[in-house]
Amino acid sequence: MMKKKNLLISKCLLGENVRFDGGHCKLDLSLVENLQKHFHLKALCPEVMSGMSIPRDPIEIRDGRIIDKSNTDLTSLFEPVKAIIKDMVESENITIALLKEDSPSCGVHSIYDGSFSGTKISGEGLITIYLRSLGVKVYSEYEVKNLIDHNPIG
Ligand code: SF4
Repeated sequence: MMKKKNLLISKCLLGENVRFDGGHCKLDLSLVENLQKHFHLKALCPEVMSGMSIPRDPIEIRDGRIIDKSNTDLTSLFEPVKAIIKDMVESENITIALLKEDSPSCGVHSIYDGSFSGTKISGEGLITIYLRSLGVKVYSEYEVKNLIDHNPIG
């Protein structure tokens, strides 16, 4: 029997209203259906897992730390999230993830620069960095085709 891989995916990409502004960034339905055909989807939102509310104040990364607009350092909130994710990766044999570009948690190639001025720079979200340190290959929502091509059903 063909075996699908587990795919960790940002909840907001599936249409769940977990973003800081209470909204989502749902992928086109055809993309979601294609992903469901190829993978077992394991959805997560690291910011909600950290205890942050919906909606919540925006956060960004500056000097590797997660901060809010008043420069409060919230990085430590993500330590328990990392522990949960490590358990998930190990127990569910997760080797791939599809995360939301530009987010301070989930960004894959690009994040905001920490000045809260809407300026994007090259970079990765805190959880993306962590997943990569565990050996997970992380794709953004702009790389769905590559993700599917590189990970055929086994
Ligand atoms: S933390 Fe990730 S999953 Fe949660 S809303 Fe932000 S981008 Fe989406």
